[in-house]
Amino acid sequence: MNIQFINLKAQYKAYKDEIDTAIAEVLDSSAYVMGASVGELESNLSAFCGARYARAVSSGTDALLIALLALGTQRGDEVITTPFTFIATAEMIALLGAKPVFVDIDEMTYNIDPEKIESAITSRTKAIIPVSLYGLPADMDKINAIAKAHNLAVIEDACQSFGATYKSKYSCNLSYIGVTSFFPSKPLGCYGDGGAMFCNDEALDEKIGSILNHGQIGRYIHKYIGLNGRLDSLQCAVLNVKLRHFKEEIAKREQIARIYTENLHNLILPVIPQDRTSVYAQYSVRLTSGNREAVLEALQHRGVPTAVHYPLPLHLQESLAYLGYTKGAFPVSEKIAREIFSLPFSAFLSEQEQSYIIESLNALLG
Ligand SMILES: *Cc1c(COP(=O)(O)O)cnc(C)c1O
Repeated sequence: MNIQFINLKAQYKAYKDEIDTAIAEVLDSSAYVMGASVGELESNLSAFCGARYARAVSSGTDALLIALLALGTQRGDEVITTPFTFIATAEMIALLGAKPVFVDIDEMTYNIDPEKIESAITSRTKAIIPVSLYGLPADMDKINAIAKAHNLAVIEDACQSFGATYKSKYSCNLSYIGVTSFFPSKPLGCYGDGGAMFCNDEALDEKIGSILNHGQIGRYIHKYIGLNGRLDSLQCAVLNVKLRHFKEEIAKREQIARIYTENLHNLILPVIPQDRTSVYAQYSVRLTSGNREAVLEALQHRGVPTAVHYPLPLHLQESLAYLGYTKGAFPVSEKIAREIFSLPFSAFLSEQEQSYIIESLNALLG
């Protein structure tokens, strides 16, 4: 069996006619940047998740950067976030000369622990960036309430959670700004780099739209310092097709996750609180005893690919060493980083493949 960690080829085959047609239309139009598919995608995204405004942007990383720029984040500001995430979350804070301030995660959801946020707030705090990790929204009501009490903005890093819900509202529409990524392996992916930003404030949306296009407010009239953060027409055309199938894929993902959860033993499995749904950007499990690396190697031998998201928390990364955090600073994140690993997962994982993965794991851990 040749199991793919994420089966993008099967997905392309399933939608090939529609995708090829959409791509051909863009090629024919020659409007490769700011073509019709861009505005179309923005309307579709906004309709999907219920946020009044959506902007297509060049990547999730750029979306984080643009969000921070839109808030006026600058040198000396502090931004609270989680150390258990992909580097981009903290990296964009640092890139602007602001200081990432880490708060440890909750052991059940792997998301920032709201109970620990308040003690990290100072007079320099500008914003909070919770991450909805592995596709599960963070506890946004609690986080928004803390932010409101201290007059801070909340940016949801929803790069892994587009399509998930929290108290029946869609991720990306749970805070002042929501940002997501359409990197190919994310729950909704394009065929290269891509992302989007969401908000419900017209003035903020205008500012975001301007910053992502060099701060322009009119042709060659630049109000803000910005960047080239546009998403090109081809990627938008691909996303418009994939979005039509996305709800169906989410249902499939939930079904596949349920089968893993019902059949795997001797591992700590994902826990989804009652008030949320997950899109399972990763189906990540924890091995609390035994040697993770040996288990992953044995799985590899049986043709089951795995990955570790993430092996080294951000406060221990060399690029952020100047922040002065040391080992032991965030014990929950450090523990989860030692125990976690992700299984092959996508809406196109076949029943046979999944049975084989489950049998292999249960045989190894039995
Ligand atoms: C993928 C990801 C990003 C970055 O998105 P890109 O589109 O790859 O730039 C940021 N934050 C998190 C949590 C991610 O998973």
